[in-house]
Amino acid sequence: MSKHIFITGGVVSGLGKGITGSSLGVLLKNSGLKVFMQKFDPYLNIDPGTMNPIEHGEVFVTYDGGETDLDLGHYERFIDINLTKSSSYSAGKIYAEALDSERQGGYNGKTVQVIPHITNLIKSKIYEVEKSNKYDVVISEIGGTVGDIESQPFLEAIRQIRMEKSKENVLFIHVALLPYLRVSGEFKTKPIQHSVKEMLSLGLQPDIIVARSEFSFEEKLKDKISSFCNVPKENVIECSDSDSIYKVPLILEKSNMHKIVAKQLNLDLKETNVDEWNNFVENINASTTEIEVTIVGKYVELSDAYLSVIESLKIAGYDLKHKVKIKWINARKLNNENYEKLLGNSKGILVPGGFGEEGIEGKILAAKFARTNDIPYLGICLGMQIACVEFARNVLNLEDANSTEIDPNTKNPIIDILEGKNTKDIGGTLRLGSYKTSLVKNTLAWKLYNQDNIIERHRHRYEFNNNYKKSFEERGLVFSGIYDEKNLVEIIEIPSNKFFIACQYHPEFTSRPNKPGPLFKGFLKAIIEKAI
Ligand code: GLN
Repeated sequence: MSKHIFITGGVVSGLGKGITGSSLGVLLKNSGLKVFMQKFDPYLNIDPGTMNPIEHGEVFVTYDGGETDLDLGHYERFIDINLTKSSSYSAGKIYAEALDSERQGGYNGKTVQVIPHITNLIKSKIYEVEKSNKYDVVISEIGGTVGDIESQPFLEAIRQIRMEKSKENVLFIHVALLPYLRVSGEFKTKPIQHSVKEMLSLGLQPDIIVARSEFSFEEKLKDKISSFCNVPKENVIECSDSDSIYKVPLILEKSNMHKIVAKQLNLDLKETNVDEWNNFVENINASTTEIEVTIVGKYVELSDAYLSVIESLKIAGYDLKHKVKIKWINARKLNNENYEKLLGNSKGILVPGGFGEEGIEGKILAAKFARTNDIPYLGICLGMQIACVEFARNVLNLEDANSTEIDPNTKNPIIDILEGKNTKDIGGTLRLGSYKTSLVKNTLAWKLYNQDNIIERHRHRYEFNNNYKKSFEERGLVFSGIYDEKNLVEIIEIPSNKFFIACQYHPEFTSRPNKPGPLFKGFLKAIIEKAI
């Protein structure tokens, strides 16, 4: 039977509940336990797939095709596991399931209520993972903060789980803000006290309090939090801001958080071995030389919209002992008159994924600039599609070349919908999740991955139109990765350039601290070598 750890947030959101949970996961995993993570989000959207990236950040895709919250990316990168669709539930998804069931007579005409029907459904999602018998510990993060109206059914569900399974099997961690008042020069514990009081009013007593502060605080504050919030002093964990999220597991290790958890849950911990993580953090500390990457995207107002791309670049950079600095360029602002000036100093250009027409022409200009000036280029998903359109327009002289996503009537549909042409539904019609790509021997892709086949994750609707393949090849573009089963293009490269590669899949979802994505690493290496 799995043990459950629930993480709630107090005072404000954005304190890093996800990072805290993942960091604890790192410690438990490296002490010999099998760990799974789940996220429960209080919003009413069914999934983040159709939410605005500028408001909500990136959509993280699991290997089985789940479109999930970006926190799952942290979970996967930290714990190095492949999560699934059952790792992410929004209130909308839960309500939709309950309402569907009601329409189909699933409740036999009973009055359907938040308690017990919605809470039972939430509990069933938590118990579902437990039933698989694969994990010793399931860490579940409850999105938002305690006190939000929307999170109440989730908090009620975990209260019931604790009652059903007792304290030895269910543990509550409350991550809350410990603010510092500059005017009086002191930390204030009152917000944490209020937040715990709010939890108590819902029948929840936290077992561990993670006090998130701007900087380190005095021991005596722990006494105060302990006595007011009803937790032993050693269960008050200090977690002050860190210059890298990847240092948090080591901060929590120093507080013995994993041991406190193991003691309450009767978990049998082997000796904790964080050598690999320590090496990774040493690389971070040694990465003092900066390397600049220009990202030409359209959601640049919120860097979280490209979170996994950024983390993948950082991770690959640390592996090469370089600190990646990102220069953001809003694709909407690039035009024929200004693109050479605005992109002029770029050391390497990355065009990430995206949807819709806006900013497309700017991205095409970015690919053109990289190709014609031999600047290292990495295109991801839409970044591959627009690189193909650019090549068609400017090398094959097909002036109206386009993707049918942008111009459905183009005479040269270089990128086109191949399946499900008639669907109008914007949710659930994408090629999602893992597919195998065969790499063509001796190509750049094959050398970078050092493998014949790779499995990477996808999230897109349009594909390269194979009718144009031959003319592209005749002009020197190489198709170096193919999804054999359906003969779909997965990777393109231009060997006459020093480094010009683009992929239809999203390599950012599988990069991990101990396994940087080969395309990211190759891209950064090319930038470094060019600078020498
Ligand atoms: N909009 C493109 C498609 O649907 C690319 C998607 C993406 O970049 N994730 O195919």
